[in-house]
Amino acid sequence: MSELVIKDLHVSVEDKEILKGLDLTIKSKERHALMGPNGNGKSTLLAAIMGNPKYTVTKGSIELDGQDVLNMEVDERSKAGLFLGMQYPSVVSGVTNSDFLRSAINARQEKPISLFKFIKEMDKAIEQLQMKPDLAHRFLNDGFSGGEKKRNEIVQMMMLKPSIAMLDEIDSGLDVDALRIVSDAIIKTQEETDMGLLIVSHYARFYEYLKPTHAHVLLDGKIVVSGQADLVDKVDQEGYEWIEKEFGVFA
Ligand code: ADP
Ligand code: MG
Ligand code: MG
Repeated sequence: MSELVIKDLHVSVEDKEILKGLDLTIKSKERHALMGPNGNGKSTLLAAIMGNPKYTVTKGSIELDGQDVLNMEVDERSKAGLFLGMQYPSVVSGVTNSDFLRSAINARQEKPISLFKFIKEMDKAIEQLQMKPDLAHRFLNDGFSGGEKKRNEIVQMMMLKPSIAMLDEIDSGLDVDALRIVSDAIIKTQEETDMGLLIVSHYARFYEYLKPTHAHVLLDGKIVVSGQADLVDKVDQEGYEWIEKEFGVFA
């Protein structure tokens, strides 16, 4: 059982305050949808949780199972069980996908994973995501299509088995079939590992597949409305204007 607890989080980027007192708790097995108009701080939140040095936490706390995440180095955060599937995964030439993943897994455990077990798990993940089998041996994200990069983020999630996984617009640019395949893989991984999920997306269709247990709207640096899956439908039908009006915020 894991729990990520964020309290009164304030984050600045280049001396501009982006998050202005954000509260959020995510537990094992939960699926949180995080929505909000562009530029309101969703990616900033995820970057701050992972310890991206461009994002300065000026106030508040982030704890994972009672441990102070803000005191951890970036690699300690992922070892502690945090994972970010990125909107724009970076290309790493010269490092194969499988080498990258094996060292990431080995960095998290005392005994290195056996080659046999690693290959078995990687094959399973690649098959689940319906990706080309040669993917393991290609340089990380090098020459991958947009959709392949996104699927590859999910392969990494499946292999690393985080306790809390955050996915930033992982559905953008996926065709309908890929969306279904990625959603199924996310759900299956969660069923097998009990991870907690924080999913940033603009699209009701993705959430229809994923069936969030909680939904939130981030506006002007704070979570201003929380609810359940019906909040996703309301935003899909009515947009954010009703919330902006209610809170006097015009993003
Ligand atoms: P969202 O993900 O909700 O669309 P972001 O967190 O990406 O929003 O951005 C929130 C605000 O912070 C925007 O005004 C954006 O320009 C700014 N911002 C985010 N990251 C950076 C960065 N690395 N450098 C400069 N400004 C940034
Ligand atoms: Mg954005
Ligand atoms: Mg974003």
